[in-house]
Amino acid sequence: MTDVAIESPIAQAIAEGTLPGRVWLYTNYHCNLACSYCLTESSPRSERRQLEPSTMLAVAEQAKELGFTALGVTGGEPFLLPWLPETVLEMASHLPVVVLTNATLFGGNRIEHGALLAHPNISVQISLDSDQPDVNDMARGPDNFAKVIEAVPRLIDRGVRVRIATTTGGSLDAPELDPLRDLVAGLGVAPDDHLVRPIVRRGRADEMALGVRAQARDIPSELTITADGAFWGSFGPTVRAGRLDLDLLLTRTVLPLSVPANALLGLLGGMPEGNDANLGIR
Ligand code: SF4
Repeated sequence: MTDVAIESPIAQAIAEGTLPGRVWLYTNYHCNLACSYCLTESSPRSERRQLEPSTMLAVAEQAKELGFTALGVTGGEPFLLPWLPETVLEMASHLPVVVLTNATLFGGNRIEHGALLAHPNISVQISLDSDQPDVNDMARGPDNFAKVIEAVPRLIDRGVRVRIATTTGGSLDAPELDPLRDLVAGLGVAPDDHLVRPIVRRGRADEMALGVRAQARDIPSELTITADGAFWGSFGPTVRAGRLDLDLLLTRTVLPLSVPANALLGLLGGMPEGNDANLGIR
């Protein structure tokens, strides 16, 4: 961390635990899947609304300068963007990066696209919701289970750090999840790299009446950058009935990053403590 970052109010707030250290970037909104609980109503027909690589690199560099400690890349499906791995590799020269993916685009030789992310500062987070193929595929689409089960060990063999994220409508510590935990461990993923979180009732999940209701203060206040502006939390830039939710919009300006970062910091000062830890939202 540089001296500038240590003196920054952002760095101080992160050190004190009042501001989360991670900045999220929504690379794009389109996806090759159309999961039933998708927060952004993503599908192959969604408008792309993508961030340019130059914007992503500027966010990474300025996040480091301001004192943020980590980056997250999500969408839509980020790996639909051909330049994604190279851009993430460059971002990782500034801060550690986690990249979220459905891992369905790594079949055959395309695994090498994902394998470019074998780097000590990068982890790839893959969604898997059940140890039962039909249950998993009901929400996420045909053959999703088989594609994930094939991709995870192939990525690990190539030196990629893989995390698994399970989204559930049930209890987060339900014994029914034990076979899934065993399956994930058997794929070579460390127990600490298996996250279980609830469906949050926003986006398509809201239309389907799925998941837990959460107010702004219940959603982790991670600064989130999109092509439409900066939002409170990675659950902020959701889409419902084709329209972007603006209730958690911070600023339309995303760069310089100090503008949305300071807007978020200002809001945090007046917010009561949230219920995110109890709800398990992360
Ligand atoms: S939840 Fe993820 S994989 Fe599923 S449609 Fe949305 S962006 Fe795509």
